[in-house]
Amino acid sequence: MIPTINSVFKAQQTHKYTLRNSNATQRIDKLNALKSSIEAYEKEIYAALKSDLRKSEFESAITEIVFIYSEIDFAIKHLSSWMRPVKVGKTITALMAKNRIYYEPKGVCLIISPWNYPFQLMMAPLISAIAAGNCAILKPSELSVATSSVICRIIEKCFEESEVCCFEGDAKISTHLLSLPFDHIFFTGSTAVGKIVMEAAAKNLTSLTLELGGKSPTLIDETANLDTAAEKIAWGKLTNAGQTCIAPDYILIHESLEQAFIEKYKTAVQKMFYTESGTLNLDSYAKIINKRHFNRIEGLISDAVEKGATMPYGGKGEEATQTIMPTILRGLPENANIMKEEIFGPVLPVIPFKTIEEAIALINKMDKPLALYVFSEDKNKIQQVIKNTSAGGTCVNDVLIHISNPKLPFGGVNGSGLGSCHGQFGFKTFSHERAVVFQSKLEMSTLIYPPYEKKGWVLKWLKKLM
Ligand code: NAD
Repeated sequence: MIPTINSVFKAQQTHKYTLRNSNATQRIDKLNALKSSIEAYEKEIYAALKSDLRKSEFESAITEIVFIYSEIDFAIKHLSSWMRPVKVGKTITALMAKNRIYYEPKGVCLIISPWNYPFQLMMAPLISAIAAGNCAILKPSELSVATSSVICRIIEKCFEESEVCCFEGDAKISTHLLSLPFDHIFFTGSTAVGKIVMEAAAKNLTSLTLELGGKSPTLIDETANLDTAAEKIAWGKLTNAGQTCIAPDYILIHESLEQAFIEKYKTAVQKMFYTESGTLNLDSYAKIINKRHFNRIEGLISDAVEKGATMPYGGKGEEATQTIMPTILRGLPENANIMKEEIFGPVLPVIPFKTIEEAIALINKMDKPLALYVFSEDKNKIQQVIKNTSAGGTCVNDVLIHISNPKLPFGGVNGSGLGSCHGQFGFKTFSHERAVVFQSKLEMSTLIYPPYEKKGWVLKWLKKLM
């Protein structure tokens, strides 16, 4: 395997010079070829997502497959304008020159993706990489085996290895890939592995995008519409059984609404995820990816309960089907492990606050989150939360939906990531913004050349103009 990676990397290092000269039509052809290959494998993708995560066809369509079709269509529609050099203004030192920003491809890019939205999270950066004129090596997750295998087959069908190539495998393969001097690395995954990737990138001074996770808070103040909040949070938390990087991780709620919210959340969950006879509807509820994560989530629940938290809802898991019931925890002690790591499962801690300042202070005690949600009808309070916190993205009176707009950047900040993706933001991520100045024959730069003793009048003139 390792010699193959090396030979593909070498071939891509040569081919990148051809791709640099590709025009919008040629890149659009490549995006169309990718789309056709995805269409040809559509049935297999749905089956793979069902096998890896028990995702229903509906959930797979909206969160993975249709999402990717629209990302491709958006890139095709706008690519010519994204590629066009941008005109910028002149400076007085080069008054007659033309100044442009060129978007040049980074070159050979490495894309490493996780298992939770295994199709979407590999394809979205790949679309941007192709749009920007790059070669790419893909390393999907070893935990979503079925989907990773389909991804590699999709790529084989529509690309030469010297342009895009996919390698299945675990951390060992990633480690080898990371030792190579890529022109850009796009990593989606955990914060812990993100640090390893950043260290490896530093050795080759490779530019890097990190799409990481963390604990995304949801703040509900005393003016919020609780029915709406409970319903939206139930959907956002339990889609993919909580294994979503931007899922509401925990709730901060005004103490006067805590009990009412818990009741409304339970009602919303029953309506969406339970059958009329009261059993969990496994056709609409994903499984936990593997036994290790199943045990990890169960461990977080039992640790919290042992340390004094109460569990007004859920709590039961079924190992045979890798299912954990939607669960609520309240009365959490500060030392509960569940408040120290990303939950990535269907467990919702509910933490009451007295004042909005207290809630903001709690958010700011942790890493800057990938997403922060606010439910409130008070415009001043909403602004207070936005201005006094930092987050990758925010929805006011909703959850998750900011990811679906390709006109918005998607990414984290510090602990939750570095850089952004989707639409033109993805195109820019995989491009180098190159400053190009076309000097004019009528240039006046000789005015600033030495000897300086005779240039006092130029300095005076420049100071005045500046
Ligand atoms: P992970 O970090 O364990 O693995 C991600 C990828 O890195 C996989 O392909 C894996 O094979 C590889 N990898 C694992 N160990 C490695 C190592 N030592 N060196 C190099 N590569 C290694 O993450 P995961 O469990 O697959 O995914 C869950 C995490 O991803 C969560 O934290 C979640 O929040 C985050 N995530 C973030 C986004 C986002 O867009 N910001 C999206 C989805 C998931």
